Amino acid sequence: MTKNNLFLKTLKLLKESNIKPSKKRGQHFIVSSDLLEKEIKYSEVQSTDTVLEIGAGLGTLTSALAEKAKKVYAIEKDQKLFRVLEDKLSCFNNVELIYGDALKLEFPSVQKIVSNIPYSISSPLTFKILSAKFQKAVLIYQLEFAERLTAKPGTKNYGRLTVGVYYKAEAKLLERVPRTAFYPPPRVDSAIVMLKPKPPPFRALDEAVFFEIVRFLFMHPNKKAKHSLKYYLEEKKKDLRLLNLNSLSEVLEKRARNLTPSEINMIANTLLMEYRNR
Ligand code: SAH
Repeated sequence: MTKNNLFLKTLKLLKESNIKPSKKRGQHFIVSSDLLEKEIKYSEVQSTDTVLEIGAGLGTLTSALAEKAKKVYAIEKDQKLFRVLEDKLSCFNNVELIYGDALKLEFPSVQKIVSNIPYSISSPLTFKILSAKFQKAVLIYQLEFAERLTAKPGTKNYGRLTVGVYYKAEAKLLERVPRTAFYPPPRVDSAIVMLKPKPPPFRALDEAVFFEIVRFLFMHPNKKAKHSLKYYLEEKKKDLRLLNLNSLSEVLEKRARNLTPSEINMIANTLLMEYRNR
């Protein structure tokens, strides 16, 4: 199918179903068959795979996945779109449609997750995906968000999100996607991102403390880590003078935005060990 064809088909389906795309729900429908092919290619969906799609929309990606996969679970929150999906996908016996809010539903365990996700819930959805069971996800995000997911320490987009994702998965920005790949086109370009779960890259003695330190550090990314740590310890009612943090002296001189995830973990682990020793 040519790009033009999919574009016209999408407009026609919207018109026939009397659907006006809602900005609030992030409704931007895929109209590029080139992008559709790339998503299928990157996800390497096999006939043995079960696949989850979040935000199925008009079912364009859903159909393409259903042709390759053993089974596709497709979640959609919009009632009107859900009716279109029921109608359009009734010819597939391997598609299970799930009506509801992806942030509230329990995800089925699958091999692959492939989605053009609603951008407004990118962050909570990503963490929900990362706590689910799967082998590989191919997702389309807003470009800026994709850059934050995959940023290197010290760069402009590096932050709490980067570190949180780094701890749980390998994240790769595969390629940029022009806004014209969707109708109506979003205000910004997008990107295809691959996420692959992996074991934690270092041992956090207490994950909750590690993530808390991450949160404190990135509240003031341009401040030296020692300042944020001072606030943190004040809030925890710990006396800095009673802790021996000599081994951290170099790390604490760095600005938060320049700390690697492993250095942040060093801060968290050293604090925990010092608490135990007191
Ligand atoms: N995958 C389709 C549609 C992408 S637009 C395509 O590529 O053409 C994003 C879709 O997510 C919309 O259909 C929107 O209604 C749906 N959506 C928005 N918020 C959602 C949520 N919380 N849970 C499930 N679906 C949601």
